[in-house]
Amino acid sequence: EVRVRFAPSPTGPLHIGGVRTALFNYLFAKKHNGTFYIRIEDTDQNRFVPGAEDYIFEALAWLGISPDETIGKNEKYGPYRQSDRKHLYKDYAMQLVHNGWAYYAFDSSEELDELRKAFESNGKTFIYNHSTRNELKTSLNMTQQEVEARLYNGDNYVIRFKTPIDETLVLQDIIRGEVKFETSLLDDKVLYKSDGMPTYHLANIVDDHLQGTTHVIRGEEWLPSLPLHYMLYRAFDWQAPEFAHLPLILKPVGNGKLSKRDGDKLGFPVFPLQWTAENGETSSGYREKGYFPEAVVNFLALLGWNDGTEQEIFSMQELIEKFDLKRVNKSGAKFDPEKNKWFNHQILMAKTDAELASLFESDLIDRGFTEPIEKITRIVTLVKDRANFTTEFFDLADYFFVAPTQYDAKALKNWKEETPELMKQLIAVLNEIEDFSSENIENTVKQWLTVNEIGMGKVMQPFRLSLVGEMKGPHLFDIVEVLGKPETIARITKAIE
Ligand code: GLU
Repeated sequence: EVRVRFAPSPTGPLHIGGVRTALFNYLFAKKHNGTFYIRIEDTDQNRFVPGAEDYIFEALAWLGISPDETIGKNEKYGPYRQSDRKHLYKDYAMQLVHNGWAYYAFDSSEELDELRKAFESNGKTFIYNHSTRNELKTSLNMTQQEVEARLYNGDNYVIRFKTPIDETLVLQDIIRGEVKFETSLLDDKVLYKSDGMPTYHLANIVDDHLQGTTHVIRGEEWLPSLPLHYMLYRAFDWQAPEFAHLPLILKPVGNGKLSKRDGDKLGFPVFPLQWTAENGETSSGYREKGYFPEAVVNFLALLGWNDGTEQEIFSMQELIEKFDLKRVNKSGAKFDPEKNKWFNHQILMAKTDAELASLFESDLIDRGFTEPIEKITRIVTLVKDRANFTTEFFDLADYFFVAPTQYDAKALKNWKEETPELMKQLIAVLNEIEDFSSENIENTVKQWLTVNEIGMGKVMQPFRLSLVGEMKGPHLFDIVEVLGKPETIARITKAIE
């Protein structure tokens, strides 16, 4: 049975790359009738940010990426928050010390800082590894009694992984195929600290094992951790899960990874939901910008994956059916904020007019307009193909609700001496029409123009200008129908005053 997890650290709002990781895990699980669970990795207390955990759950719920198991839901392998599992990790760290895969290190952070500086002044970088550990304060260089005395004294310590000196690890990644690592280049990572907290590496491996993870699907930034993780599974003599490292998400222009800090600097959100930091700074979110969750899911799915065809619009159900880790690219995926708007437009166009009208209705109510839903629906039909967001409806359709008070200066140039007289005649024509439907109005007006040999442009342009105030908008006679006879005539009358 497939069991995958999304394991975010609540160190701030979940960014769009994290959401893609969650989505790919979710799709993979559903595709294989497996389980998708969420584990909160909060062992790094220094980086804890209040509200971040709630944000993660709220964002994923908005997008419809719902876990089968997590905090408060189907807690079969709970707890699902690492700080609530704190008591578990020490035994595992000790197990590695006892079987020789880890050791105590008693160096203070000041001592390590000094070493770093000393190395730097010689033009070298200090690495805590096989070449330095013999000179350092580790249990490898102490007698059993010395170690015990220090522990008894309550000296601060960390437990570090004892990386093999010279081994080539040939590992498999579902997306990348074979990946090779030289252990001689790795440092001895800290696994556990005397404050009772494991580091990410230890907690992550222990939990993936205890919670039955079969596949680890995560961002490329974790690829450098793969050799250590693999060696930890080996040191515990546990079966390692399969790994898939998703490609980086790149900035829309230039090279480089799209970062949390890019956000509004580049003019588009990098977060699913709006977030206000403790210092009051607000970052915009896709939800608040008026995106449909389906559009966000859709553009995230295509960041590094495609189904091999030209198809770009997928429902969640289709994504589940078609998703395949083997079709995920190795190379970075460019983020395209303009294309994201196009996705939203496509989703908007796929909604029913009734759905769109009810969204527009609440916007109108907020703006102080009450109109019958039939009229709102009709207006939505007329303007929706020009909108990427339902929040744009009002700007596209404002003249349906407020008569123009000003007329576009450029368009007024076509307002000739004869125009007022023609408009008066037009009013008379309109007044006679009983069936005030777009088609009938159009036929009647055009017939009047033909019979009297009046040029179309002479009437149509000032007609539109009187109703809309500028030369924009959908088919003129559709506007006339929606405005209705009295309002149409009132607007023309006002324009010729
Ligand atoms: N807690 C890690 C993160 O924040 C999880 C990485 C992994 O999936 O192993 O991304």
